[in-house]
Amino acid sequence: MRRFIPGLALLVAISACNGDGDASDAAVTTTGVPVATSTADTIETPSVSTTSTAGTGADDALATARLEMVDDQIAARFIEDAATLTAMRAVPRHEFVPAVYRERAYEDHPLPIGHGQTISQPYIVALMTEALDVQPGDKVLEIGTGSGYQAAVLAEMGVEVYTIEIIQELAAVADETLRRLGYDVSTLVADGYFGWEEHAPFDAIIVTAAPDHVPQPLINQLASNGRLVIPVGPIGAVQTLWRFELDAAGEITGQNLGDVLFVPFTREEG
Ligand code: SAH
Repeated sequence: MRRFIPGLALLVAISACNGDGDASDAAVTTTGVPVATSTADTIETPSVSTTSTAGTGADDALATARLEMVDDQIAARFIEDAATLTAMRAVPRHEFVPAVYRERAYEDHPLPIGHGQTISQPYIVALMTEALDVQPGDKVLEIGTGSGYQAAVLAEMGVEVYTIEIIQELAAVADETLRRLGYDVSTLVADGYFGWEEHAPFDAIIVTAAPDHVPQPLINQLASNGRLVIPVGPIGAVQTLWRFELDAAGEITGQNLGDVLFVPFTREEG
């Protein structure tokens, strides 16, 4: 089904949503994999103020950067789903990053969003979105709201989005951003391990932090023919991005989408 190029996927997927995500030069870890080093908590005084981005010229530049991002980082890496590409051309990713990173929002890596968390690399958002295989009207649960960007991409595709974040402060900022931009997304502050029973079953579930095993409650909350896209693996090491599908007979099949490095799936609030 999916075309998979191991070498390329490793290189581009590896910095999906790593906790140390940063826009600075990448360092090399003991695994030899480039992983960025500093966190959002170390952001110093912005060298670019938000006001400097105001005005038509700056907005045009961001819109152009967004189209180039989709062409050069996503379509060029064999993401073919038209709805995914269209949504990512539409959602203003720069609105979901801290002001200091606005001009860097369309670069090919994750960015810090505070609390040691990151907004995922655009390619990873596209890869996971395509793998969810959603149709307008589908009900989708996201675990790991973060900035709200992934939720906005799904909402842009006409999906009914429910998203859970364990860090209250991030959830509040994401909720405000989504509302301000007109995205109708339901947000919840909770440990996403347990899913969102009240709104189950879901046609698709996406997890944007990496647990060391697949949470059974998420499987239980999948609709018949539901898809679960989730990175699974040890904390701080390379994880595997999985796509699971539940068939009508209740059987689960898994597909390996490649190596990734996500922030840990935490079990305690804050
Ligand atoms: N999807 C996000 C990126 C998220 S980074 C975006 O588009 O910006 C992963 C997020 O998962 C972090 O914000 C982290 O706090 C959150 N997270 C980690 N463990 C969690 C859990 N058990 N339940 C809910 N959220 C969790």
